[in-house]
Amino acid sequence: PAELLCYCRPGFEADLAAELADKAAAAGWQGEACFDGGAGFVRFRLPEGETANALHRALPLAGLVFARQSLVALPPLTLSRDDRLTAIVDQVVASGWSFESLWQETPDTNDGKALAGLARALERPLTSLLKKRKALRRKAGGRRLHLLWSAGDRVQLGMSFPGNRSELPGGIRRLRFPHAAPSRSTLKLEEAWHEFVPREAWGERLGEGMQAADLGAAPGGWTWQLVQRGMHVYAIDNGPMDKALMASGQVEHLREDGFTWEPPYRLDWLVCDIVDKPSRVEAMVERWLVRRWCREAVFNLKLPMKRRWPEVASCLERLASALEAAGVPAEIACRHLYHDREEVTVHVRLTE
Ligand code: SAM
Repeated sequence: PAELLCYCRPGFEADLAAELADKAAAAGWQGEACFDGGAGFVRFRLPEGETANALHRALPLAGLVFARQSLVALPPLTLSRDDRLTAIVDQVVASGWSFESLWQETPDTNDGKALAGLARALERPLTSLLKKRKALRRKAGGRRLHLLWSAGDRVQLGMSFPGNRSELPGGIRRLRFPHAAPSRSTLKLEEAWHEFVPREAWGERLGEGMQAADLGAAPGGWTWQLVQRGMHVYAIDNGPMDKALMASGQVEHLREDGFTWEPPYRLDWLVCDIVDKPSRVEAMVERWLVRRWCREAVFNLKLPMKRRWPEVASCLERLASALEAAGVPAEIACRHLYHDREEVTVHVRLTE
């Protein structure tokens, strides 16, 4: 297979395409990104005769910003509506690959949602045909076969490998909105923790009694998450905080400027959801980290501009080189989360 297939939020195809092209070029690959605006996925094609498996490993999903899922893909199929199964099964068998599981997916669009019924109807006959041809079997290295339906007669097959994929259908983490939380933004911080902090480390890294600052905290959706974990929070915002949240006694609300406020002592967490220029937010967080005012940070970069990838790339580069120059070793990750709209979420953890 000579291409990657990556899923994204509809409307962000150009950003994902630019990111893939930059990162592939930096890793030494020449390829071409193709997409339709609003389709919710991007193909990245390598020249004829090359295989995409090495490129797939060179661009791990966790290091991509705009991709929700990343697959090694076969060429898209146009199917006959009378017999959709034969062409699919033939392509799988011809690829020579076998799989442990089959996932049928659709882009995160209204057209995509309308195809879910078709995919469901095909599931059983397809599974049984693939098993008969030994393309679906136990012990196939954890490989998963993905079918991305973009129309009733249009499907693209891709494969994913354990350790370099999203384990969520569509690469989408759906979370239940906690009704006691003061705002829907609360889900962005919750999703960030799922994304960036391994579950088994929550007790140690998101623990009872830790100290946090929330810059641009009002009305308190993010502060609410920190309070739920048993933390004490400095909530910095000129605007009003949710009354019930303040009644927890775990929040100190300060009507100050988040860009200049300094914590009274070292904290465990800094979070920031202020709507401002990405470069201004980056510079502020950089100051916090260089001075080691916190051990971990989650912050959003708001991206109202047309070309989002270059903006994100330059912020991340500035942050990485500033930390390196200051001798502050850190892990930096950035993802366009499902609950993010025109913004991405950055996570930084100081490693010593
Ligand atoms: N994360 C919050 C939640 O979950 O409820 C929502 C934050 S809202 C998107 C952005 C907030 O940043 C606004 O309440 C605004 O008052 C605040 N803000 C804007 N500029 C600020 C600044 N310089 N310092 C502190 N807060 C600021």
